[in-house]
Amino acid sequence: MKKPPCHKGPDSGSRLVPGYLRCEYAIDPKGIDVRRPRLSWIVESEQRAQRQTAYRILVAHAGATLATNRGTLWDSGFVSSNETTNIIYEGKPLKSEMQCFWKVQVRDAGGDESAWSQPAHWTMGLLGDSDWRAAWIGMDRIGRPVKSGSGANNSDGALYLPPPRYLRKTFMLRKPIRRATAYASALGLFEMHINGRRVGMDYFTPGWTDYQTRVYYNTYDVTDMLTEGGNAMGAILADGWYAGYVGFKNIREHDGDKPRFRVQLHVEYKDGSRRTIVTDRSWKASTGPLLESDLLMGETHDARREMPGWNAPGFDDSNWSRVNLTSSIKAATGAYPGARVQEFRRIRPVSVTEPKQGRFVFDLGANFAGFVRLKVKGRRGRRIVMRFAERLEPDGTIYTENLRGARATDTYICKGGGREETWEPQFTFHGFQYVEVHGYPGQPDIRAITGVELTSNTPVAGDFKCSNRMANRLYRNIRQTQRANFIDIPTDCPQRDERLGWTGDAQIYIRTATCNNDVAAFFTKWLVDLADAQTADGGFPDIAPCKSHNGHGVSAWGDAGVICPWTMYQAYGDEHILRKHYRSMARWISFCRKNSRGLLRPAEGYGDWLNINANTPKDVLATAYFAHSADLVAQTATVLGKTGDAEKYCRLHEQIKDAFNQAYVLSNGRIRGDTQTVYVLALRVNLLPEALRAPAARHLVEDIESRGWHLSTGFVGTKDLMTVLTDTGHLDVAYHLFHNRSFPSWGFSIQHGATSIWERWDGWTPEKGFQTPGMNSFAHYSFGAVGEWMFRTIAGIDTDGPGFRNIIIRPRPGGVMKWCRASYKSIRGPIKTHWKIETGRFMLDVSIPANTTATIHIPTSDPGSIMEGGNLVDVSEDISHLWSGPRSGVYRIHPGEYAFESKIK
Ligand code: BGC
Repeated sequence: MKKPPCHKGPDSGSRLVPGYLRCEYAIDPKGIDVRRPRLSWIVESEQRAQRQTAYRILVAHAGATLATNRGTLWDSGFVSSNETTNIIYEGKPLKSEMQCFWKVQVRDAGGDESAWSQPAHWTMGLLGDSDWRAAWIGMDRIGRPVKSGSGANNSDGALYLPPPRYLRKTFMLRKPIRRATAYASALGLFEMHINGRRVGMDYFTPGWTDYQTRVYYNTYDVTDMLTEGGNAMGAILADGWYAGYVGFKNIREHDGDKPRFRVQLHVEYKDGSRRTIVTDRSWKASTGPLLESDLLMGETHDARREMPGWNAPGFDDSNWSRVNLTSSIKAATGAYPGARVQEFRRIRPVSVTEPKQGRFVFDLGANFAGFVRLKVKGRRGRRIVMRFAERLEPDGTIYTENLRGARATDTYICKGGGREETWEPQFTFHGFQYVEVHGYPGQPDIRAITGVELTSNTPVAGDFKCSNRMANRLYRNIRQTQRANFIDIPTDCPQRDERLGWTGDAQIYIRTATCNNDVAAFFTKWLVDLADAQTADGGFPDIAPCKSHNGHGVSAWGDAGVICPWTMYQAYGDEHILRKHYRSMARWISFCRKNSRGLLRPAEGYGDWLNINANTPKDVLATAYFAHSADLVAQTATVLGKTGDAEKYCRLHEQIKDAFNQAYVLSNGRIRGDTQTVYVLALRVNLLPEALRAPAARHLVEDIESRGWHLSTGFVGTKDLMTVLTDTGHLDVAYHLFHNRSFPSWGFSIQHGATSIWERWDGWTPEKGFQTPGMNSFAHYSFGAVGEWMFRTIAGIDTDGPGFRNIIIRPRPGGVMKWCRASYKSIRGPIKTHWKIETGRFMLDVSIPANTTATIHIPTSDPGSIMEGGNLVDVSEDISHLWSGPRSGVYRIHPGEYAFESKIK
């Protein structure tokens, strides 16, 4: 988060500084198509207890006009409100391609006005179908043998998948240019070029959707790339998710077999006249050095076939072919609303070995998603083959069996000529820590390759460090695995032939994701994919996007359609997302109701996936989720003011609870199945009568004890295990599980060198080696859902109600923890906690953003000993005492920085 520059004007008496302006969750977005976009900012203050009492927003059509404080598009006037997030634009109607410049001014608690914030802006995209004149173009005849099979071993270079197509057009611009914008889209993946340069630094554009229903376009400001005179525009078009291999069925062409590209370049001359260049029959097409490129299989680049200048004017394209056209497609066109995939960091290998002659294995030190950049000096035609793996075999060679049908092989064929050549792929990525390089001339230097880590642009929001090394490693592994799987959509894994938007995994992990990164835009996009994939009878899918893969209506997977919007509301206070998806959420409840008997859901689905010998009955799990979703939809209806619906779903929730208790719960609190997960679910979803909560929690703890203080939970149970233990008074047991290093535990994988979160607790064990290759990823985030507990319980940062308007600060030290320092950039500004325990004293520094309040729990063995700022805590304007128990003092604090201290045993 950029710190808002403190530029209080000399006449400004306000103690508040507005900054970090965002439109639709993005900083200065280009080409949005939301007609009434939502605007957000944060306010900062060096003074305690500051809050915003009013705001004024100005939006102008030009920066210069805004500078003179004229809101030609909108002047909201001062609005009495403490709201700083998602304020809906209420100005003049916004039209295609408009530029909007905006700033905000606020009043503080005393009514004093701040200076204006720094200006920000957004631009509108193409709002209607009639704005589009560009044709969808491609090249259908490629005259090269196509190998239809996949398999991990077909890198012999003889036959390839269809190659990416190169498309180009030259044009003259005869006057000085004021502004130029390109709107580009593809059925497939595109990389656009203008005058010899790549446009934008994003990967895998325009993103993954169900292309039968929807396709996005991306907007680029290309003013600086064009010149008065001759220009050239080009694109490389690859199969991507549209026509390439996707998922585990060994099938290509899920959405179509003819990739298409379209672009519309809008040029505005300085004299005010305009020119539009579009994809049409005048474009030329060819294949080129990219012999094949596939997300799962990898990429092959023959540098001998490079075509210098293909993307610039003056290139001889006389032997290029005409393009093929598709005049219309049915899918709805929209501006990309998500978080584009970008380079996150470059990674240097930590070692290189040669376990077999001529096969060099580079260790990149972390299991990530991306590719490598290769440097080589080789004779013309030398073929360097790179294979990617997450783990090594005992003999030091790469372990690739778990990739299943994903060939995950990149090949570079040298141009030669005595120069060092540098290459990296464009339309593929792999999930890996190790790279085997074969065919390299001589012994490669460790600098021969560099890792390029990719992830969706989700700004880092959280940070966590504590006194325990294992916990710090776990936190790094969680974040690493999140980055590896947040590639346009939330995927299950980045390496094998799967990489799908499994809905169960997403709902299990989403809250942790919000703790680590700003994933608001990312999930805004995916929730549309999810809604697009909902079936007519209301069933949410197991996977989104990608209709051709999925089943639907599976408990804990389909429930993502309710849980994910609700979590967005919790983390970002986003009511709009609830409104947008409410009907879909309600339809899911109808689906569940229809597909239940006496309100009990059938024993179907994946159950508590990948548990450890603990057979949770699927109907118990499914019915608990049914109750949970009914409850969330009831709460959603309340938020949206739909009182009738709220009552209806509340009643339904109660009825499901009754049915659950009657069918599955005994009078001693035992629940059918008697697994850790059944207790976790019943307690977390609040299904049990009050009197049975403690006995049920005891049964949970007994089971943990009977396994030598180990968990047995799979994906579903693990999500809430730690929270339930903590909330039912078993914090000590939670810490015990957290610190475990023996199997199964988080620590176990770390003991064995994990740099990411494994799909299975037993992905690898000393006794058995690798689990079955049919299902053994080393980068699945579900078990990383413990990150939510780490933030809430160790760091003690949580929201009380939606969107961190009211904050809970409640660190609960335990286990071997001596200190923890964490921060979270909430939608309303940064929250920080730093606690330590030293010689019988607990010390907590905490920082709460302006315009919020917090309830703070100070752990102590003597509530009378609590101090703040070096003095015994006194009720003041900033601190009010709420209550004290034998083990804590609880206060309400206002924004600012505080230093608490207490006696602790
Ligand atoms: C995926 C999971 C997913 C599951 C459904 C697997 O193949 O990798 O993460 O949730 O199937 O049970």
